[in-house]
Amino acid sequence: MTNFFTCPRCGKAPLFQGVLKVVDVCPACGLVLKDHDAGDGPAFFAILLVGFLVTFAAGLMEYVLSPPFWVHAALWIPLTFLACFFVLRMAKSLLIRWQYRLALLKENPK
Ligand SMILES: [Zn+2]
Repeated sequence: MTNFFTCPRCGKAPLFQGVLKVVDVCPACGLVLKDHDAGDGPAFFAILLVGFLVTFAAGLMEYVLSPPFWVHAALWIPLTFLACFFVLRMAKSLLIRWQYRLALLKENPK
């Protein structure tokens, strides 16, 4: 099984440089990744999924434990940021893999 955060064709080179920036061209196989068009798709999935989970968990915690407000702020704000970065990477990788499967990414012309 190939790593989820590697090139969709060869699986040898990393798909991201940094946290969320996709590499322009795969250094291992030459697949051009700069033309991918994930658009707002990853942000949509991150907002939908993380928003639901964090809101549900915070509401459940308030209902069961009723902690002071600073506990909610100290827990849910950093957790929301971390979860958004993780879901953004996953969704971006997933959408780029779908584009590759549908042959929407081009070969490197060289
Ligand atoms: Zn590759």
